[in-house]
Amino acid sequence: MTMSTSPLSPKNLIFKTNNTDEKIYVREQHGVFQQIRRSLAFVLIALFILIPFIQYDNRQAIYIDLVQQQMHIFAFTLFPQDLVIFSLLLIFSAFLLFYLTHLYGRIWCGFTCPQTIWMLLFNWVERRIEGTHHQSKALDKQALNLNKLAKKTVKHAIWLSISLLTALVFISYFVPVNELYYPFFTYTLSSTATYWVVFFAVCTYINAGWIKEKMCQHMCPYSRFQSVMFDQSTKLVTYDATRGEKRGKRKRSQEKPAGLGDCVDCDLCVQVCPVGIDIRNGLQYECINCGLCVDACNSTMTKFNYKPGLIAFTAQQLNNSNIKKHISYGVAVILTLIAMMVWAVSWQSYDVNILRDRQALYNINHAGKVENTYLFKIRNKSASQKRYEITLTGLHNINIVGGSIVTIQPNALKVISITLESLQPQPKRVNNFSFNIKDTQSNTMITKESAFYSRNDG
Ligand code: SF4
Ligand code: SF4
Repeated sequence: MTMSTSPLSPKNLIFKTNNTDEKIYVREQHGVFQQIRRSLAFVLIALFILIPFIQYDNRQAIYIDLVQQQMHIFAFTLFPQDLVIFSLLLIFSAFLLFYLTHLYGRIWCGFTCPQTIWMLLFNWVERRIEGTHHQSKALDKQALNLNKLAKKTVKHAIWLSISLLTALVFISYFVPVNELYYPFFTYTLSSTATYWVVFFAVCTYINAGWIKEKMCQHMCPYSRFQSVMFDQSTKLVTYDATRGEKRGKRKRSQEKPAGLGDCVDCDLCVQVCPVGIDIRNGLQYECINCGLCVDACNSTMTKFNYKPGLIAFTAQQLNNSNIKKHISYGVAVILTLIAMMVWAVSWQSYDVNILRDRQALYNINHAGKVENTYLFKIRNKSASQKRYEITLTGLHNINIVGGSIVTIQPNALKVISITLESLQPQPKRVNNFSFNIKDTQSNTMITKESAFYSRNDG
């Protein structure tokens, strides 16, 4: 096994360290980083559950309507043609994640990734039911008996309940909460929605209960390319081998034996590691920078009256940060943010599409006047009924036939035919005039250019 005294260099990453196919019995650990993660997990889970319950304008504030192909975010209703904002959001999140990884390694994985949060939640349940990691291991080795059966049944029942709740919460972003929870528990939910709840419940149960850290190690692509974002200024969880070696066991009351470093070889850093690695072997791609081994080692150092920080978040060279990288990431994040703000400011609560009548360039009506017909597709993207007024700019002696006011229901698309009639018998062709479609409530206006054809054309 490789041992490195300068473990932060990406080329020192170890790509296979131990037999990770064996079940890992994670020891519970308290400490600063555990507390930070638990607090973060609590806030994130609470937000995940509660956000769908927020109401806005008599409907769920955040809700994805797959049937209508709409996404509601408070006052915004987004349609497939608004997908640019999602692309921007994804680009923004990706750059932010890359920048955070450059600064602090895989802290997304260790502190906020749903896989880690649910995996550690399931571990927490396991420790409550089966006892310590040693007791849990011993239980697994026992032949089937009543005690084992009872504990395993309770644990899996709780895991399944958490999985079911997780799936229901996830689906509540796609099915309104008032049409989901009660119908689900009274067996009146549609079979399609029920199928997806059960599907996601099974996925959660398998991922967090069985696959666990193997998802991070073998399936998540992020773990594979993270090292390209590290440099010598990246703060990673590392073991100070210079201080810790030569490792060796000793008594707490005893003075440090000559020739030994600060590592008392208590093995706690290995026992608490959710991905089952020994950080003393150097930087390994499995490490999710969760800091549990830091908490474990600091508790040991305190017991032995040694300085904490034998395992810590450290950078190989604090002042060796590549300023160009900071600027590149910063500029990318800020530019994407500006693009998102521009999109939000220029967003209109309605869309207009105008097509000319494809059957004829113009018509002569019963009074002998020239007419042009246009197909209007107006989408009201707001949550309230809207009235739109259509006016013309750049046309003389040409009028709209019939009404010029259109009323459209919330989130609805209306297709209407608008006919323009010339008041003169021989009008000239007009290549460039404008339709103005004004929202009569907000007075916002969308202008679309078009052309008017006459007898002399075509
Ligand atoms: S080595 Fe430490 S920081 Fe890395 S995953 Fe294991 S416990 Fe977490
Ligand atoms: S927890 Fe610290 S002292 Fe104990 S084995 Fe790990 S590095 Fe050594």
